Amino acid sequence: MRRKVAIVGRPNVGKSTLFNRLIGLRQAIVHDQPGVTRDRRYGEASIADFAFEAIDTAGYEDAPDSQLAQAMQAQTARALAEADAIMLLVDARAGITPIDVEFAGQVRRAEKPVLLVANKCEGRAGQPGLLESFSLGLGDPIPISAEHGEGMGDLYQALVAALGRPDEPEDEPLDAVVAATDEAVDDEAETGDLEEEDEPEPKALQIAIVGRPNVGKSTLLNRLLNEERVITGPMPGLTRDAIAVDWEYKGRPIRLIDTAGMRRQARVSDSLERLSVGDTNRAVRFAHVVVLMIDATEGLEKQDLAIARRVEEEGRALILAVNKWDAVKDREATMQRITDRLQTSLTQLRGIPVVTFSALTGHRVERLMQAVTQIYDTWNVRVPTGRLNRWFSAMQEAHPPPLVSGRRLKLRYITQIKRRPPTFAIFSTRAGQLPTGYVRYLTNSLREDFGLAGVPIRVLLRQPENPYADDD
Ligand code: GDP
Ligand code: GDP
Repeated sequence: MRRKVAIVGRPNVGKSTLFNRLIGLRQAIVHDQPGVTRDRRYGEASIADFAFEAIDTAGYEDAPDSQLAQAMQAQTARALAEADAIMLLVDARAGITPIDVEFAGQVRRAEKPVLLVANKCEGRAGQPGLLESFSLGLGDPIPISAEHGEGMGDLYQALVAALGRPDEPEDEPLDAVVAATDEAVDDEAETGDLEEEDEPEPKALQIAIVGRPNVGKSTLLNRLLNEERVITGPMPGLTRDAIAVDWEYKGRPIRLIDTAGMRRQARVSDSLERLSVGDTNRAVRFAHVVVLMIDATEGLEKQDLAIARRVEEEGRALILAVNKWDAVKDREATMQRITDRLQTSLTQLRGIPVVTFSALTGHRVERLMQAVTQIYDTWNVRVPTGRLNRWFSAMQEAHPPPLVSGRRLKLRYITQIKRRPPTFAIFSTRAGQLPTGYVRYLTNSLREDFGLAGVPIRVLLRQPENPYADDD
C-alpha cells in the first residue's frame, strides 16, 4: 500500500507549492477523494524513486476569520490521522511564529514520524529562520526551496529515514536507481549515530561532467570511454531523462551520470540538445563528484558560477576542469583570470581543485581523474571526535564566541555527524543565537585545519528542546 505523507503548516509557508512540486507535471490532475472533505488534496507524489501519496492541507484559508484557527486544527487533525508520516512546513524567511509552535505541538501529539521542513531557504535569507526552527524540538530542519526545487535530495533521505526504503519499482529495477537508494540508506545510517563506525564503501564513484555546450564534454567522454559501455536508464520519476554509464578507471568502478553531451555521445537521443538547467540539476543530485568543465579560451562565466553554487548547495564535491588548454596562448594570464574570478565569486568553495587539461590531445586527462578521486576521498573524510574537540577549544580560546544579550555564548561540544559532505554539529544551549560571522569563522578554520579544501562543509547548530533553559 502506498504510504501517505501529510503536508501541514500555517498558511503561506508554501504547502501547495511543495505539493505541486512533489506531484509534478506528470500528474496535474488533482482529485477529490470520495467521502472526504473537498479541501484536502491528494496527489501521487514522488522524489526520484520514492513514491508516496501526498496530502495537502491548504485550503482552510477560505474559512471566515473567526473560525480560522478551528478550521486549521480540524483540517490538520484529519490529515494527521490518516498519514504515515508528516511534513511540518515552516517559512524560514519569516521565522518561527507562535502559530508554528502550535502546529508543532499538534504534530508531536500525533506520534508519527515528523519531517521538519524549512521552506524558502534559497539564497541566504532563510538562515535565521532555519536556526530558529531547531527550537521547535522536532529535530533538525530540512532546508528546502519548494519554489526552486532545492533540497529535494535531503527530503528524499529524510523520507527514507522515516518510512524505510522505497517499494520496488513496478518496472524492471534499474542499476542507477538501486545505486541512488543504497546511497540514501548509507547516509541515513550515518546521520543516526554520533560515534565512529565502519561504513561500507559505496560501489561506484559517481561522477557528473557538466558545463556549457561546446566546452568539450563529449570529447572528454570519448577519451575516457574508448569502447562502448553499459548504458542504463532512463530512470523513473524525476530522473526519467537521466542515463548512467558504468566503467572502470584503474580498477575503480565509476559511474558517469547524465549530461546532454553524454546523451549525444551515447546516441540515446540524436537531437542536438542544449545543456538544460534541469539536466544539470539532476546530474548534480546523483553525483558524488561534479566535474564542471569550462573552455579555457572563454573563461569562467556567470552560468558556470551558478552551477558551482548549485553543487555546493547540494553538498557535492566539485572540480573545475579547464579544457582546451592546448589552445590557450597566454597561460599565466588565463589562469590568473580564472582564480581571481573564483576568489571573488565562490568564497563558499574555497580551494576547489582547478585542473587544466586538453580533452582533445589527452594531455593531463590522467591528472584530472586523479583530482576526482582525491576530492572524493576528502568528501568522505571522517574527523575523530577527540581531535575535533581539542581543536574546538583552541579555536574558542583564540576567538571567544561573542556576547549575545550581555551573556557570553557557551559552545559545549562539536562532532561530525555525517560524511558526504562533512557535516558537523555544534551543541550549545543558545545555539540559535550564534552569529553567522562566528559560524563562518569556525567553518573556514575547519576547512583549513582538517584539509577539507574544495568540499562543501555543513555546520549545524544544535540546542536542547527548551531554548529558554539556563545555559550556566
Ligand atoms: P500555503 O498557503 O502553505 O499552501 O503556501 P503557498 O504554496 O500558497 O505559498 C505561499 C507563498 O510563498 C507563495 O507566494 C509562494 O510563491 C511562496 N513560496 C512558496 N515556496 C517558496 C520558496 O521556496 N521560496 C520563496 N521565496 N517563496 C516561496
Ligand atoms: P560539448 O558540447 O561540451 O560536448 O563539447 P564537444 O566535446 O562537442 O566539443 C566542442 C568543440 O570543442 C569540438 O569542436 C571539439 O573538437 C573542441 N574541443 C574539445 N576539447 C578540446 C580541447 O581540449 N582542445 C581544443 N582545442 N578543442 C577542443
